[in-house]
Amino acid sequence: MKPVMALVGRPNVGKSTLFNRLTKSRDAIVADYAGLTRDRHYGNAKHGRYEFIVIDTGGFEPDAESGIYKEMAKQTRQAVAEADVVVFVLDARAGVSAQDHDIANYLRRLGKPTVLAANKAEGMTEGAQLGEFYELGLGEVHPVSAAHGQGIRSLVDEAFDPL
Ligand code: GDP
Ligand code: MG
Repeated sequence: MKPVMALVGRPNVGKSTLFNRLTKSRDAIVADYAGLTRDRHYGNAKHGRYEFIVIDTGGFEPDAESGIYKEMAKQTRQAVAEADVVVFVLDARAGVSAQDHDIANYLRRLGKPTVLAANKAEGMTEGAQLGEFYELGLGEVHPVSAAHGQGIRSLVDEAFDPL
């Protein structure tokens, strides 16, 4: 059985772009607006010596009461339940949001292996603006650029080395 990686995070941080990068496909729909990818989406990935399944998710609204956001949250919970490792995708340019804290609380309670990916980090001085992500209490933050293919190898290594 291949290990399973779930990509979670609030809308528009670049989960689908990372999914495409990891699976080398254009299967996931990349949107310029939030929340378009509403279903879970599975793909195969092979990086270095790791072969794994990636699940894209449609975003995360832990407190949403109804409608599409509730469905998105349910899809995300199911994806996380299926996963061996969770990649929590953040927006390195936007910084930490209240929603990021909600997701972090959820993931910490769950106790599933979680790796933080600060996406859109291309052209940013390494580490300079990433300090605040350590507030999330989920350990080390990995700068990546899904769009430009930077930091992907070390993210995958970090996700699967402990397994
Ligand atoms: P999702 O809602 O989390 O799935 O996010 P998407 O993958 O749909 O991306 C949301 C927006 O962020 C799109 O406009 C992407 O082109 C953009 N984006 C994704 N990855 C990167 C990146 O590494 N750098 C930059 N600058 N933009 C990115
Ligand atoms: Mg998406």
